[in-house]
Amino acid sequence: LPPEFLDAKQVLQKIEQHGYQAYFVGGCVRDTLLHKELHDVDLATSAYPAEIKQIFPITIDTGIEHGTITVRYDRKSFEITTFRTESGYQDYRRPDQVTFVRSLKEDLQRRDFTINALAMTATGDVIDLFSGLRDLDQRLIKAVGDPEQRFQEDALRLMRAVRFGSQLDFCIEKQTLVAMYHKAALLEKISIERINAEFSKMMLGQTPMHGLEQMIKTKILQHIPVLSAYEPQLQQLISHVPAVRLKTNVEVWTLLAVALRLNSTKLKHLLRTWKNSNQLLNETVIATQAAQTMCQRELTAWELYQTGWVLLQQSAHVALLYRSTISLARLQKQYQKLPIKKRGELHINGKSLLKAGFTPGPHLGQVLEQLEKSVVAGELPNDTVALLKVAQKLNPKED
Ligand code: ATP
Ligand code: MG
Repeated sequence: LPPEFLDAKQVLQKIEQHGYQAYFVGGCVRDTLLHKELHDVDLATSAYPAEIKQIFPITIDTGIEHGTITVRYDRKSFEITTFRTESGYQDYRRPDQVTFVRSLKEDLQRRDFTINALAMTATGDVIDLFSGLRDLDQRLIKAVGDPEQRFQEDALRLMRAVRFGSQLDFCIEKQTLVAMYHKAALLEKISIERINAEFSKMMLGQTPMHGLEQMIKTKILQHIPVLSAYEPQLQQLISHVPAVRLKTNVEVWTLLAVALRLNSTKLKHLLRTWKNSNQLLNETVIATQAAQTMCQRELTAWELYQTGWVLLQQSAHVALLYRSTISLARLQKQYQKLPIKKRGELHINGKSLLKAGFTPGPHLGQVLEQLEKSVVAGELPNDTVALLKVAQKLNPKED
């Protein structure tokens, strides 16, 4: 058992002592068997929520309506979900009704892919009712049960198939892939937030270009907003950069912006339609500007300064895919040579201008920006006396 399982093991055994079944389930079992690092440990049990509450004195109703309870044990928290089946799926994404059941098999049966439908006992025995071990071994994403029906029930699984394929560098099993092609249009029923979450994980995975290719081949791409209009550009991206590992969401969207040759208005429209955060939007707009410029020529001192080191690295990582002569080491040297790295390092500010007798007003900001540009360009020393002198020249009405 991996160390992350050891604390939870005691929770499982305590539930078992009360006569119920309890297992590790889902992604944590899959990732353990693949020797990958785990993010969350999911536990499932035959005990109903009320029964779990009788076993553990401290619990929190995290998602009680679908059977998830957080249990406090030994000063740690554990999420436990009662075995359940789902039915309904009127809106192609959420079941109308969940029903608690006592059988592990029924719980595993509702899960999306065979590699996600494995369970493990407290002592480390794997329970494999849907040939998940074989598919792990063959590196396959295969729907549990009838693939057409499973995508019909919940169309988000279309994106999840592509996402796990890229994250794990697995192939999608033939029948599952055919069903995806048949059900691709159902993706239009899914909210963009949920599509985005899976798409981003796919792009940050091991084989994002393969993921994009599968989105094109299955026609999934035709049913997602904005990107559907750029199939030729995405196809070009796939053939141009077959292997790339992206590290951040800024890199993901910057690469797309560069590949689709988006100007800042179109990029903002894409990012807003996909309901990305304002922070990601602002950072991506800056990084894209830098990356698109880097593909043409070296950045000026002012451009280096405005982009900042964190975004420069990400821009360079993307631009490097288009212009192999870009060197991160040289970029870093150029950046380090900047006399100041941010406005706060300028040895003059609004306060010192007012103290020197300048009248308050928006013109002060303009004067400061001129000084900032000159210092960054190395045309002026970052020295209070020298800067004040120039400030007075820039604003002759003053003092
Ligand atoms: P991650 O590493 O991204 O957390 P995960 O496998 O844990 O991967 P989650 O989205 O956290 O994925 O879901 C946990 C488990 O719940 C899955 O392994 C799967 O068994 C089941 N599951 C999640 N979403 C669905 C879905 N849309 N349809 C069917 N089963 C699902
Ligand atoms: Mg998970």
